[in-house]
Amino acid sequence: MTTITTPFSGGCACGAIRYESTAEPLMMLHCHCRDCQQSSGGPFSSFVIVPTEAFKLLQGSLRFHASPSEMGGQTRRGFCPECGSPIQGQPDSIPHIIAIRTASLDDSSWFKPQIDVWTSDAHPWDQMNPALPKFKKYPPSGDPADPAAP
Ligand SMILES: [Zn+2]
Ligand SMILES: [Zn+2]
Repeated sequence: MTTITTPFSGGCACGAIRYESTAEPLMMLHCHCRDCQQSSGGPFSSFVIVPTEAFKLLQGSLRFHASPSEMGGQTRRGFCPECGSPIQGQPDSIPHIIAIRTASLDDSSWFKPQIDVWTSDAHPWDQMNPALPKFKKYPPSGDPADPAAP
């Protein structure tokens, strides 16, 4: 497996936003939900999930768009107010994690998705890796960082 060196960093297209994560990912996944489709402009969004305390904004400030979450509360999706690049998402119901948009990483060569979530919203033309475990909505525990938990 490719080694992930920490901290790993990323940012937006215009350079106003810079961030780093001081911890390795808890989980890596593709989310096919409607909100991720609309906010990314693609058929799904790829995320690297890290502990909230590990995510450090180094430069700029994010703007947030909130939408209701099936798990309760809202999911707030942070993006660059200058160029609109999606950067991360923060679910109210799981405050201990931040989901970083894989496309915003400086180096995403080590990205290795482990599960597909929200396949119930996936487009018929969305192609998925058949080898990855799939969840119609969230994993049973509700916590994408802990899909095996009861
Ligand atoms: Zn920007
Ligand atoms: Zn989603």
